[in-house]
Amino acid sequence: MNQGPSQPSSQGAIRPVERRKRIAIFGSTGSIGTQALDVIREHPDRFEVCILTAHSNHDLLIEQSIRFKPHTVVIVDERRYESVRDALMPHGIRVLAGVEALEEAAADDEYDMMLAAIVGFAGLKPTLRAIDNGKSIALANKETLVVAGDIVMQLAVARQVPIIPVDSEHSAIFQCLVGETRNRIEKVILTASGGPFLGRKPNYLVNIRKEHALRHPNWSMGAKISIDSATLMNKGLEMIEARWLFNIKPEQIQVVVHPQSIIHSMVQFEDGSIKAQMGLPDMKLPIQYAMAYPDRISNDFPRYDFTKSATLTFEPPDTKTFRNLALATDAMFRGGNAPAVLNAANEIAVYGFLRNKIGFLEMTDLIEKTMARIEFIPRPGLQDYFESDAAARNFAATLLDI
Ligand code: NAD
Ligand code: MG
Repeated sequence: MNQGPSQPSSQGAIRPVERRKRIAIFGSTGSIGTQALDVIREHPDRFEVCILTAHSNHDLLIEQSIRFKPHTVVIVDERRYESVRDALMPHGIRVLAGVEALEEAAADDEYDMMLAAIVGFAGLKPTLRAIDNGKSIALANKETLVVAGDIVMQLAVARQVPIIPVDSEHSAIFQCLVGETRNRIEKVILTASGGPFLGRKPNYLVNIRKEHALRHPNWSMGAKISIDSATLMNKGLEMIEARWLFNIKPEQIQVVVHPQSIIHSMVQFEDGSIKAQMGLPDMKLPIQYAMAYPDRISNDFPRYDFTKSATLTFEPPDTKTFRNLALATDAMFRGGNAPAVLNAANEIAVYGFLRNKIGFLEMTDLIEKTMARIEFIPRPGLQDYFESDAAARNFAATLLDI
């Protein structure tokens, strides 16, 4: 049996809404964070905002806070503290600053669910703290599970905390599993759009600049995940995310390129039957589903029309060209600290690419060299994950000369 804590168990009975769910948005100024606030604005009877956090966009954080009235906000960049404090003190809002303040806010009692929407490794510690604090997690930050999925999921089981995916593919899988608690998953089919360079070969990719890579055909997202989508690293990270979230083996995961992004992912059961979740690509839907689970809320998002749409197509990924997906698959099968090293090297590679320090294809070389260099730890503890992350980051940075 697959018995992760996030295995949906409700059989869909309509339940009255008891009281408003108190949401803490970690990473509220990002693509996911702002879309979550759009959803909350439409449903003031269901949700209230209790905590907002941002790295450095203080203007937007102030604007959001005045509008949604959280009791606490965190600005990570301490140079922005005074301006945020001066703007929000008159509204009776507690303002904290610095990296540690994220964990302090996560340990607060006064909220029900954390929307983990910080990008990268930086999201891991606050999310662990929220789980330890017994809070439900709506998980957008896939890097948390890539780095330390075994420990995160074990803690969630121990604290009986549901981890509900926001990533559209994982939300799709989660939705396919509603009502299937007794049934074993044979295979999870993760769909990938293929990104903006689908069908391209290395001779084309070598000249790609960040302006091209940031333009995704189907989704509008933050910079890091946009680059990850262009290199297919995003799909690699999502394989590892799925492995932990649904308690499945690496060999049970298959990636299929589906350029139209209408089927968000599928589950094949032991009888060979396949369930898919479909819809137009819009992150507001999985965000809303995670926040309202087990309810579905009516909305006016555009609907998919089978009679008007183009053909849906499927093909295998080109892992010879998009080698990041091969590296991630390898890291997933190796296990141990390999995914943490992969993730750290990738964060530095993307950082370097976004600052024009390395080319598109060189990102893969940097990750590969880092993975070859950092010592493999087969059964890491949490501290090993932190140390592997730091070691990989440092080594990758020396290759980049930063
Ligand atoms: P983004 O870059 O748009 O926003 C990131 C947020 O995190 C911002 O609020 C920023 O202030 C904050 N942040 C950045 N660095 C930080 C740090 N070091 N410490 C604390 N806060 C920090 O990113 P996004 O596109 O919203 O993605 C957020 C997460 O959700 C990522 O893990 C991404 O993989 C995942 N995700 C995003 C999408 C999408 O459509 N954008 C889809 C699926 C999954
Ligand atoms: Mg996704």
